[in-house]
Amino acid sequence: MPACSKCGRDAVTRLYYTKQDLCSNCFCDVFEHRVRRANREFSLLRRGDVVAVAVSGGKDSQAMLFVLHKLAREIGDVTLKPVLIDEGIEGYRNVAAENAKKLCEQLGLQLHVEGYKESFGASMDEVMAKRDSLSSLDARFQAKPSCTYCGVFRKSSLNNAALSLGASKLAVGHNCDDLAQTFLMNLMRSEPERLGTIGAQSGVVEREGFVTRVKPLIYNLEIECAVYCRLRGLPFHLGGCPYAAESFRGTVKDFLNSAEAEHPGIKFNLLHSFLKLREKIAEETTEKAAAEKMFYCGKCQAPYSGSGAVCKACEFLKELRIETIA
Ligand code: SF4
Ligand code: ZN
Repeated sequence: MPACSKCGRDAVTRLYYTKQDLCSNCFCDVFEHRVRRANREFSLLRRGDVVAVAVSGGKDSQAMLFVLHKLAREIGDVTLKPVLIDEGIEGYRNVAAENAKKLCEQLGLQLHVEGYKESFGASMDEVMAKRDSLSSLDARFQAKPSCTYCGVFRKSSLNNAALSLGASKLAVGHNCDDLAQTFLMNLMRSEPERLGTIGAQSGVVEREGFVTRVKPLIYNLEIECAVYCRLRGLPFHLGGCPYAAESFRGTVKDFLNSAEAEHPGIKFNLLHSFLKLREKIAEETTEKAAAEKMFYCGKCQAPYSGSGAVCKACEFLKELRIETIA
């Protein structure tokens, strides 16, 4: 067994991109140090903040909640409110959610749960069934990939939950892999102007009705979140969503994973390229976002920007002919 590059104890894992072997303590220190670094550089959590923490029971959000719990005590006067959005995916979210509940109990935090079924009138399983039946019955129906629907519903649910909890920030478990994927996806879709709206802190412009999203894990890899959970003994769910195979993100993720295996460090390189580029385009994007007119959806009252008559979630529900409860 190799010795830890930092302290000489038995190493348990290797960081291929720096060629360092690390013991359990040193790895956890590195992981937490990176969260503190993101917090410092992007002003994520501050005294007085009420932070809604998006948890799912997966490795990323479990690691995030655990480290933020430490960080909140270090900073002082920071209240954490974990939120779980239950998409209604049988055999996946209900199983993963148990881990989120367990960790919240361990940390003495109250978990708030919101479901698609209650918010939108249909679970994700029902949305998929509806989409598939409409596709076979109506040639004009334009079916979208699962994550297109789910992403919009999830974003809306999280923002609504954060608002109702009186949160000043909404922490999401996006890691370096997620940012690198999003960066490449924007380039591949020829949507470089969208780069200004992603990053460690998405709330470039404070907009009424939107809680500022913060991403404390951007300097950690996805695999490192799993290693951290294992080493800290945190409960987490490793299984994937049954609908994930439909997504463009999945294709980009596979590509990046095989590229990283051959050329360790490319995910961090992509992240740093993105952050440098973002600085250059941030001013333009900020002005544009500030000038964007905000509306409140006539159907569900959620805030939205854009050209539609209702918010994106309500537009999808109408297309799917799903009656909302609210
Ligand atoms: Fe929703 Fe797609 Fe994530 Fe599954 S993979 S939970 S469908 S966004
Ligand atoms: Zn709406």
